[in-house]
Amino acid sequence: MVIFVNSKALNHLTITHIMQPHYIFVTGGVLSGLGKGIVTASIGKLLQSSGFKVTAAKVDPYINFDAGTLRPTEHGEVWVTEDGGEIDQDLGHYERFLDVNIPKSHNITTGQVFYEVIQKERSGKYLGQTVQPIPHITDEIKRRFREIAKENVDFILIEIGGTVGDYENVLFLEAARHMRFEGESVVYIHVVYLPIVKTLGEMKTKTAQHSVRDLREIGIQPDFMICRAEKPLDDVRRKKIALFCNIKEEDVISDPDLKIPYELPIVFDNQEICDKILKKFNLKKRRKDLKKWKDFIDKIKNAKKIVKVGIVGKYFDIGQFQLSDSYISVIEAIKHACWYYGVIPKMEWIDSKIFEKNKGKLKILKKFDGIIVPGGFGFSGVEGKILAIEYVRKNNIPYLGLCLGLQLAIVEFSRNVCGMKGANSTEMDSKTPYPVIDFLPGQKDYIKKSEYGATMRLGGQSVKIKTGTLAYKLYGKISSVERFRHRYEINPKYVKTLEEKGFVFSGMTPDKKIMQIGELPRLKYFMGSQFHPEFTSRSLNPNPLFKGFIAACIKQK
Ligand code: GLN
Repeated sequence: MVIFVNSKALNHLTITHIMQPHYIFVTGGVLSGLGKGIVTASIGKLLQSSGFKVTAAKVDPYINFDAGTLRPTEHGEVWVTEDGGEIDQDLGHYERFLDVNIPKSHNITTGQVFYEVIQKERSGKYLGQTVQPIPHITDEIKRRFREIAKENVDFILIEIGGTVGDYENVLFLEAARHMRFEGESVVYIHVVYLPIVKTLGEMKTKTAQHSVRDLREIGIQPDFMICRAEKPLDDVRRKKIALFCNIKEEDVISDPDLKIPYELPIVFDNQEICDKILKKFNLKKRRKDLKKWKDFIDKIKNAKKIVKVGIVGKYFDIGQFQLSDSYISVIEAIKHACWYYGVIPKMEWIDSKIFEKNKGKLKILKKFDGIIVPGGFGFSGVEGKILAIEYVRKNNIPYLGLCLGLQLAIVEFSRNVCGMKGANSTEMDSKTPYPVIDFLPGQKDYIKKSEYGATMRLGGQSVKIKTGTLAYKLYGKISSVERFRHRYEINPKYVKTLEEKGFVFSGMTPDKKIMQIGELPRLKYFMGSQFHPEFTSRSLNPNPLFKGFIAACIKQK
């Protein structure tokens, strides 16, 4: 809503944006992993393409302060925000879909909320009151919700992690309930799962009914039901859900499995979800501009040629199912670059430990058009990755090293080209004779004091790009901001030797102290970055390093 204010002081007509922000809470029922993040991002996309300013936030009911200390196989990848937050991966979906930077304050955990309340209590801020989950914890949660509203946005989508019925998220749901009670403009959206029981051959709705009952027990009556299922929802079930869940039939939205999740905004738009949401807020419907998004989906659908990318990593010990979540941004960044060129990405996971056991297996790398070594921590599987990098370098297979992937490329080059036998990163071998990768200044102290949380070099930092290099060709500019998450760096003492042997450091900090991009110009594509280019890759705007890599992979075919 825009109102015109005739301000005498300013002596001209000023347009003031005084819209009360609207909150959309997205909850989930039945089970986790329903794609609430994609649902939230898709609704955000539709509102955004109607010309609204949209942001999104994620509530994580765990006690961890942030996702920084979580094992990726357990909770998926750790997403790094521009302002240095180590956050839940869903913030990545929001950024990729909405093409906006989402700050770390948009990830609210139980740990943060309790920490704040206890600190306040210890410093006497509650003036002798009995500090209780309701209202003190819920007040702190709402304070954080309302803090986001100060960002001058029209819509704030807040996804509440976990499943309704869990003990853990109940205070967050309670706070979400208070928001409408306290007069905020709020819509509640509940995402449920409808199983198709194979032996019955029928889609069941009971799960939705039970889950809504749980939500109502907390006092929230959803305005919309999003029904995730293998197949689209039919009218019979839509009617049944509407009746049992006490909502209009038209507000029961189908969310079928999609080959391309990026198509969800279109699937939702066909059901006019955005217009229906606006109606609930008493706002007029607007014309949407989804052309670019639709073209993007068409490009994906029409792609014919396949590009095979091998990802040599280590997070494979907990079984196949966790895989894609541990590297989700890398996967998405590969997809963005492939779709940019209209090719189909085919990714394969290679556990680097197999090379440690049997070097003969390295030959399998030949079948790929390009190889990526992603980020990682600790020494497990590292020697296998180094062997893989040696193989791709010697066989001139396009290579992209992400953070650890650059560090290990330096180790490999030092050992096998510069003649530094036993060269290593001090992360893997503290007594190496050639510590070509070593602690960043100050990092050693954190480790000594066991201060692991949020102490790495984190978030967006400037990268100065050297002209005349491949990196410069790809970026087309002399500086960029990229996102970092590391404790170790290329040891400045060895930079000269590495350069003499042919390594080119094409990106560094503006003060030239930290090397941030390295390349081997004689090869088709051999590039590594100390940052994570996957965190700045957006659906319609792939990161230059991934673009360059996929272009080289296409040529490799
Ligand atoms: N473990 C390495 C470091 O801390 C690499 C980190 C990463 O890949 N994100 O520097």
